[in-house]
Amino acid sequence: GYDIYIQCNTSHLNSLYYEAALPAEHTGKYDFQSILTHEVGHAAGFLSLATQTGTFQVQSGNASAAYSTMLYTRYDSLLTNQEGQSIVNKAGNGNTAFTLGETLSLGDTGLTAYNPATWQQGSSMAHIDSASDPDALMQYSISPDTYHRTLTDGEMELMRSMGWKMVPEPGTSTLSLLGLAVLALRRRRC
Ligand SMILES: [Zn+2]
Repeated sequence: GYDIYIQCNTSHLNSLYYEAALPAEHTGKYDFQSILTHEVGHAAGFLSLATQTGTFQVQSGNASAAYSTMLYTRYDSLLTNQEGQSIVNKAGNGNTAFTLGETLSLGDTGLTAYNPATWQQGSSMAHIDSASDPDALMQYSISPDTYHRTLTDGEMELMRSMGWKMVPEPGTSTLSLLGLAVLALRRRRC
């Protein structure tokens, strides 16, 4: 099994920028690292089971049992409307959860979900509205010569709200020291 698979359309390979270092000049290309990190972000929980009818996906049981289960993600459970209601709870009462175009907040992060008035399959709801965080990694699209390689503070907060324990990324020097320590241990053992 796998947690994620990422399909890359090979007809776009020449439109991508592959270097780790940022270029000195504009390249007119899309940053591959930004795109991959974004896709891993979906695997880490930036994911919605909201549907274009303003409800959530439902898993139906067999007819005789006549049950159905509303499906939603941890991310979905953080979505609230401007009245402060959890849209997942609204849907749970048999109501429509949200309307397209409505502003939906993600917990206390200051972020809002991308919820355009016209449903965009694959983009709506599962992304951060760029108006709420112009530097967000999890915007639905990225332009050439744009580098969003890490989570913003708001997105870090959202990860915590989704249950992740977030630790600061170790600096390069710390990593080198760790590497030296491991090397030293190995040499001792020999
Ligand atoms: Zn995405």
